[in-house]
Amino acid sequence: VSLIVQKFGGSSVADADRIRRCAQRAYDARRAGHGVVVVVSAMGKTTDKLIELAGEISPTPPKREMDQLMAAGEQVSIALTAIALETLGQEAISLTGAQAGILTEPAHTRARIKTIDTATMRRHLERGRIVVVAGFQGVTHDGQITTLGRGGSDTTAVALAAALKADECEIYTDVDGVYTADPRIVPDARKIDRISYEAILELASLGAKVMASRSIMFGAKFNVPIHVRHSMLPDTGTMILAETKDMEQEQVTGVALKTNLGRVTLIDLPAGAGVQARIFAAIAEAGLLVDDIIQSASSPEMTTISFTVDHADLVDIRPVLDRILSDLGQGSVRVDVGLCKVSAVGVGMRTHTGVASRMFKALAEAANAAGARGINIQNITTSEIKISCILAKEDGELAMRAMHQAFGLGTGVASEKLILSR
Ligand code: ADP
Ligand code: ASP
Ligand code: MG
Repeated sequence: VSLIVQKFGGSSVADADRIRRCAQRAYDARRAGHGVVVVVSAMGKTTDKLIELAGEISPTPPKREMDQLMAAGEQVSIALTAIALETLGQEAISLTGAQAGILTEPAHTRARIKTIDTATMRRHLERGRIVVVAGFQGVTHDGQITTLGRGGSDTTAVALAAALKADECEIYTDVDGVYTADPRIVPDARKIDRISYEAILELASLGAKVMASRSIMFGAKFNVPIHVRHSMLPDTGTMILAETKDMEQEQVTGVALKTNLGRVTLIDLPAGAGVQARIFAAIAEAGLLVDDIIQSASSPEMTTISFTVDHADLVDIRPVLDRILSDLGQGSVRVDVGLCKVSAVGVGMRTHTGVASRMFKALAEAANAAGARGINIQNITTSEIKISCILAKEDGELAMRAMHQAFGLGTGVASEKLILSR
């Protein structure tokens, strides 16, 4: 017999009726003879609302308490899903991350999974039960509840599939697969039938939130076949797999948009070996993630370095920077907000040229609704398989559509996306 992990995202469990329909999917798989582990997210926009509530009480709520708070969302969903399964006559048990044996690092709100003890889940599975696990959460070795970062239920699902050696991890969401761009932004985006871990990892890291990037890392490492599908429709979805020869080697597989970026610029730093190491070691020690780092030519005496970070991290990064600058005894900080990043991703870029110039041309010629032409590029970063531009946040969606068209990714017609309301 095979074992399947099914993950249902927030919009798929947004109300009682949808929970019932997800339970029915799980039940059908069980009836077909599979062992079934279900992972659920918090209902609808619950997590956003909880964060908002905390924000009404404090601008800087303690991260430990944020984890306690956010984890409550998923705890509601597991209980309701298990209840829905029981009403179908299917034995089920709900488990929090801790009860399911998901041990994480202590980094609150962005914890990584360290180990998964599958004994409890296995015991229930052996008795024929459907095990319903709370996504997005775990526990530290000393019993503190942690969360895995926004979108982290994907990570729970793929990590459980890896730990349980499941045959497949099904991700049920509000679109019917992975598209060449966010179909909410680019109306004629095309669904991709098969995509490699490498390509989707890059897209996800660059802002395509259809899958949490960390979940793809687990998938690639443990070779878990991931099947992204619509939770309310029968469809073929998208398979995420290791790259095979017959997979299309397009120059550009898709485009992605990362919003809510801020840019920190450190000006007039002392030049000389070791400055960068000191700066980024201090940032890493504080558990903060920087996005792209940009350093342009500097004089023999002075250096300027900038990097982009998630907007939400600016508050945490500020004190770290102030400390570094006082240690260095020189330099100042400038912070720009309201930025975004658009990227083109393609494994085939390795062997093709001209992708960058097409992207720059598309941005230069993009015209907004008011007829104004040309999007200003503030920074450019590239790797073997992607090109990214930092732009003003207002330009992001227009840039996406222009690039998508320039790379010939679209179908030409706005298709009915069948996007579930949120
Ligand atoms: P869930 O709650 O099921 O985890 P998410 O909202 O996290 O769902 O992710 C699904 C959403 O991801 C879609 O509704 C879509 O707007 C967005 N998205 C961004 N990029 C893509 C893409 N390339 N393909 C499909 N969906 C995308
Ligand atoms: N509920 C969590 C979030 O909104 C986790 C998830 O949906 O994957 O980020
Ligand atoms: Mg998600």
